[in-house]
Amino acid sequence: MEHRPFGPLPSDVAVIGQGTWYIDDAHRPTAVDALRRGLDRGMTHIDTAEMYGDAEIVVGEAISDRREEVFLVSKVLPSNASRDGVIAACERSLRRLRTDRLDSYLLHWRGSHPLEETFAGFERLREQGKIRSWGVSNFDDADLDEAWGAGGEGRLACNQVLYHLGERAIEHAVLPWCAEHGVAVVAYSPFGHGDFPGPQTPGGRVLAEIAAAHGATPRQVALRFLVRHPSVFAIPKASRSGHADENAGAGTFDLTEAELGRIDAAFPRGPRPRRLPML
Ligand code: NAP
Repeated sequence: MEHRPFGPLPSDVAVIGQGTWYIDDAHRPTAVDALRRGLDRGMTHIDTAEMYGDAEIVVGEAISDRREEVFLVSKVLPSNASRDGVIAACERSLRRLRTDRLDSYLLHWRGSHPLEETFAGFERLREQGKIRSWGVSNFDDADLDEAWGAGGEGRLACNQVLYHLGERAIEHAVLPWCAEHGVAVVAYSPFGHGDFPGPQTPGGRVLAEIAAAHGATPRQVALRFLVRHPSVFAIPKASRSGHADENAGAGTFDLTEAELGRIDAAFPRGPRPRRLPML
C-alpha cells in the first residue's frame, strides 16, 4: 500500500483507507471482518464519525487489538463544536472506539459555532494527547482561508470532501488550495455512495478497458484516478471482506497519462458549481 504525507503529521498515511458510514447496518461480525481484512491489506486509515450511529462501536471492535496499526479519524457534529462541546464529544467517541487517542479529529461541516472556538477545543485535545491532529470536512476554499486564519498556520491537517468520478468540483479550487497549503484532501464517497458507473455505460466501458490492461477492476481504476494527485487520499466504505480486498488492490499501481486522459474525458469535471457539493 502506498503511503503519503498527511498535512503536518510526521508519519505518512495509507493512500486508500476505509470509510464506515452505514457499516453498522451490516451483520456485525461480517463488518468487523471486512475492516480487519482491510487492515491486513494495508488500508490502515479508518474514517468514522459520531454521526454514524454505531459505526464507532464497530470500529472499536475491529481495532481493539490493533490500535497501533491504525490511523484513526473521527468527526464532531457542528452542533457539538463549541470549545467545551468538542472535548465532551471527543471523549464520547474515544469511549465508543475503545481507545485513548485519535490520529485526526474533524469538524464534520461548518455550523454556527465560531471556528476559533472549535479549534481552541481541538488544540486543547491535542495538548491533552487525545488527538494528534485536527482538520475539517466539507470546506470550500473561502472556508479554508478562514480556517487557516482561525486555527493558526500549519495546524490544519486535512479537508475531507465529496470526490468521485461523477463529482469533481473540488478540482476547481479546494484541491489547489490544499496542495498549496500542505493540507491533505480526503475523498469521501469515492464510489458515488453506491452509485458507481455500470459496465454498460460509456464511462463504465472506459474503466473496464483500462482495468483489463492492468489486471485490475473498474473500481480500482476509479480509486487510482482519484488519488492521482499527491495530496489526495480516498476512503471507500466496504462492509464485506471481498470488497475490502478489491479496494486495497488500488493501493499499488499507476495509470498512464493516456489512461488518465481517457478517464478525464469520460467523466468531465464540468463547470465550478456555486456551492461545494456535499452529501
Ligand atoms: P462509497 O465508499 O462511495 O460507497 C460505498 C458503497 O460501495 C457501499 O454500498 C459498499 O458496499 C460499496 N462497495 C465498496 N467497495 C466495493 C467493491 N469493491 N465492489 C462493489 N461495491 C463496493 O460511499 P460512502 O460510504 O458514502 O463514502 C465512504 C466514506 O466516506 C463513508 O463511509 C464515510 O466514512 C465518509 N463520508 C464522509 C462524509 C463527510 O461529510 N465527511 C460524507 C459521506 C461519506 P458494501 O458496504 O456492501 O461493501
